[in-house]
Amino acid sequence: MSGSAPLTLRDLEAIPIGRLHGVGPKKEAALRGFGITDVLGLLQLYPRRWVDRTNEARVRDLVEGEQALVLGRVERISGRPLGGSPGRRGGRSIVTATVSDGSGRMRVTFFNQPWRERQLAVGTNAAFWGRVEQYQGQPQMTNPVVDLIGDRTGRIVPIYPQSEKADLTTWEIAGLVEEALRRAALRGFADPVPAPVLGRLGLCDRGTALHSIHAPTSMADVAAARARLVFDELLRVQVALVARKQELGARSVGHRHDDRSLVERFLPGLPWQLTGAQERVIEEVLADLARPHPMHRLLQGDVGSGKTVVAVATLLGAVSNGGQGALMAPTEVLAEQHHESVGALVEGLTVPHAEGLFDERPVRVALLTNRTTAAERRELLDGLEAGRVDIVIGTHALIQEGVRFRRLGAVVIDEQHRFGVEQRAVLREGGVDDQGQGRVPDVLVMTATPIPRTAALTVYGDLDTSTLDQLPPGRKPITTRWAAGADAEQEVWAAVRAEVAAGRQAYVVCPLIEESVKLEASAATEVHDRLAGGELAGLRLGLLHGRVLPRDRQLTMDAFRAGGLDVLVATTVIEVGVDVPNASVMAILDADRFGIAQLHQLRGRVGRGADHSRCFLVTGTELGPEATARLRAVVDHASGFELAEIDLDLRGEGQLLGDRQKGRTDFRLASLRRDRACVETAREVAVELVGDDPALAAHPGLADEVALLVEDSADYLFRS
Ligand code: ADP
Ligand code: MG
Repeated sequence: MSGSAPLTLRDLEAIPIGRLHGVGPKKEAALRGFGITDVLGLLQLYPRRWVDRTNEARVRDLVEGEQALVLGRVERISGRPLGGSPGRRGGRSIVTATVSDGSGRMRVTFFNQPWRERQLAVGTNAAFWGRVEQYQGQPQMTNPVVDLIGDRTGRIVPIYPQSEKADLTTWEIAGLVEEALRRAALRGFADPVPAPVLGRLGLCDRGTALHSIHAPTSMADVAAARARLVFDELLRVQVALVARKQELGARSVGHRHDDRSLVERFLPGLPWQLTGAQERVIEEVLADLARPHPMHRLLQGDVGSGKTVVAVATLLGAVSNGGQGALMAPTEVLAEQHHESVGALVEGLTVPHAEGLFDERPVRVALLTNRTTAAERRELLDGLEAGRVDIVIGTHALIQEGVRFRRLGAVVIDEQHRFGVEQRAVLREGGVDDQGQGRVPDVLVMTATPIPRTAALTVYGDLDTSTLDQLPPGRKPITTRWAAGADAEQEVWAAVRAEVAAGRQAYVVCPLIEESVKLEASAATEVHDRLAGGELAGLRLGLLHGRVLPRDRQLTMDAFRAGGLDVLVATTVIEVGVDVPNASVMAILDADRFGIAQLHQLRGRVGRGADHSRCFLVTGTELGPEATARLRAVVDHASGFELAEIDLDLRGEGQLLGDRQKGRTDFRLASLRRDRACVETAREVAVELVGDDPALAAHPGLADEVALLVEDSADYLFRS
């Protein structure tokens, strides 16, 4: 650590971990096992928790029923299997230990943690955190949180992650971190955030934060350090997103789609009045289209809020200006559905004929999926390249090689957390080599269900946002009931029969089997056959799953839409977009296997017509607390926006963000759930610091950190 300027994160990254005195080849290998090869990695290995010795209790003083922290030495330990087949992995077992702290003895019991016997060998010093019970006159803890703290002193003892499994104890890590901090202190840490900003937000400086997170003297220190480090993580991501937004919005050249004539012919022809929200959002889109820079907009709207017509207006905005539009859907069923509904919506609209001066021809809408036959595909691709096709609707097939547009003006991505940033980019670039002379198409991304604001800011933070916060008028609320157990299920089938008798239709959604389309299909077939021969005998049942061929799928969907089927038994292939207003009841089987967003999305298939609709969540009677909370939420809340927040609370962001998040962020401490307010703050500061310079010339330290730590930032940050 030579030189004298304060250390940047990049400096720290350049120092191999082996340079620390405490690290020999063996520790180096162990650290590598954690993915730590340099000092930055070590300093960013934050403690998992802190043992606060100021809370330490003596065994003698333990009070039954209260949580307590006891530091003691293991005097005796033994384990044995509990019934079942002994020694079997995962079998039931019990380990009991006696722990003494000099003031008295405590019994500690672990169920199904046989490895504790090895971890807590006699003589081990450890911290035990748990609720105090009484067992045969002696204090006892059952399954307490255990931290091996060695002979460390100090009031606050950091506990590092995973150290029990690796060849590295938590105190060895602490020792290395201490050495790194001590040696770094000679130069100090560079702080990429301007002091006035830190002052305004009441945040400590970088050096203090790094020191306090690893070697705090109080829990208040920890909180202050965490606040600063969380802010840094969120700020880096927001800077990357805001800079990208700047870059895309201000620098790339788009089409100036300012001829609205086709849209103005389209909208008045709709069979209903636009909602206020639709009018506002379409206006936002058209304003974007007319600008010389490409649009990058996110459309959030609840299920049934009428996103499709916004999509069509967007596509027509491009067509109106002599360009083409592409609509990309996450599944084939949805692409087919869109093809049908968009085709119907634009029926009667015409555009000038390329050859004739005065002729008009109908707007042409085509479908491209992996199921499109080779001959059809060839013709379609020719049509796209020649400009004979105005709007193409499809799945991922749209971004495959060989798809070329004459002039791709607008892209709408109807997604369900399924397309990544990269794919968005591919589609965007697809329009670049055409006659648009390197111009980038306008892009509208639509979410199938709302996502929480903090997640939207993080995942779609490079986009402008429009929100459809209003449902079309006349929608009857959907009554959602939770039907647990066999008797309740019988009532569900009675309700389905009654609904069909009244001339309406029903969906039966079959259990989700994530791993296998095949198993899922056969389960659906089983349900179909059981119902057809039993509870729903005499009704006209259709079956739809991932293995039904597209032609047959189309026939089934058409029949259901036309009223030729009473009940559609289906897997989640009907999850998004499917729109049959006469369907007024839905039964979701094994509903506990679905996530909140999925249930809400499924439920959105009913309640689309004038009739009162019902959705039944069918489950067994013994559910875990998480499934119960999910189902309760779906029963109690009709708003996708509210459910999105609850979902975030229940699950955390990991699953919510899914793949798109991966590699984009460097969150180690930050949580979109816990740190909601900080996401907003970080966004504001990012907007302030980026200003109108995506290269961040005024804040080179920050720009460098973003480039170092936020993976997909490199291609646009620094491009000037
Ligand atoms: P989303 O994709 O947002 O879930 P859709 O675009 O599929 O919703 O629209 C849901 C249903 O509402 C469709 O049947 C559509 O025709 C209808 N719809 C859309 N906008 C309106 C409106 N302004 N008034 C009445 N019905 C509408
Ligand atoms: Mg839709």
